[in-house]
Amino acid sequence: VGLTKHFPIRGGPLGRQANVVRAVDGVDVTIGPGETLGLVGESGCGKTTTGRMLVRLIDPTDGRITFDGQSIEDLDAAAMRAVRRDMQIIFQDPYGSLNPRMSVQDIIAEPLEILNIGNASSRREQVAELLRVVGLAPYHAERFPHEFSGGQRQRIGIARALAVRPKLVVCDEPVSALDVSIQAQVVNLLKDLQAEFGLTYLFISHDLGVVRHISDRVMVMYLGKAVEVAPKRELYANPQHPYTQALLSAIPIPDPKRRTSRKVIRGDIPSPANPPSGCRFHTRCPHVMDVCRELEPQLLKGAPDHRVACHLVHPPSTARAENATT
Ligand code: SF4
Repeated sequence: VGLTKHFPIRGGPLGRQANVVRAVDGVDVTIGPGETLGLVGESGCGKTTTGRMLVRLIDPTDGRITFDGQSIEDLDAAAMRAVRRDMQIIFQDPYGSLNPRMSVQDIIAEPLEILNIGNASSRREQVAELLRVVGLAPYHAERFPHEFSGGQRQRIGIARALAVRPKLVVCDEPVSALDVSIQAQVVNLLKDLQAEFGLTYLFISHDLGVVRHISDRVMVMYLGKAVEVAPKRELYANPQHPYTQALLSAIPIPDPKRRTSRKVIRGDIPSPANPPSGCRFHTRCPHVMDVCRELEPQLLKGAPDHRVACHLVHPPSTARAENATT
């Protein structure tokens, strides 16, 4: 709740002026057991930082993190190790995230060794079983990462994340580096594994088309803020925020009879070191109003479980009353 991460930077003409990059600025994220929350936005919107804070790979500047009823944002390293078993991460880059000098056996068994789970013999059996569940033959255990394709490497990364039987897995752009033809296979594998092991996912992607296939709910982020959160069907059928509408209009639709006009987002995403005043999307929004430049819109509920941060949807005159009832 209220997750915030500001990274200090040095800037200014003399290189001495302290400043911060507001990577994430007060984001509330809730994920229920067995649920998949899709987290979407352009690069630099803070989605990866949010995912890494949730599993304490990086510490938040501010905010509370509760996992399984336990507050974890202040746990020391020893206490965090015990919780770490329940939360794992799958990284984007299947080429860079696997140590090229380690065999697949050692890569997948490493989390078991770090957490002192089992012995050498039982770990070998577990690695063979994990390879099987991700669709790779056990003999691959003796090979090295460079001997595999991108899709196979991501399966190895998934096996590594599952080795300690986690409850929550943060999937950080797990298919972005893969060929389109392989992406669906990996997404389907993640869905199958979720059903088999009762996993909870935070699925991070810049692609609303990919997120659609795996998520129960979707949160859209822009420049360190959550701008829209809704159940998947609701979000895709009835997007309310102009940024979500633009992202959705960019997804190709295979049916030529259902052509929608593409809404182009003008300009580049502003620097998170100096975000725009009021609504952070106002420099690019086709519906910008005077109030948008001054007053920051709050994430307010409209339809059930559908929250949007936009003055167009929740005019400031009514937002206070709506907020009181949400
Ligand atoms: Fe656009 Fe204003 Fe809504 Fe921001 S608050 S998305 S600028 S209409």
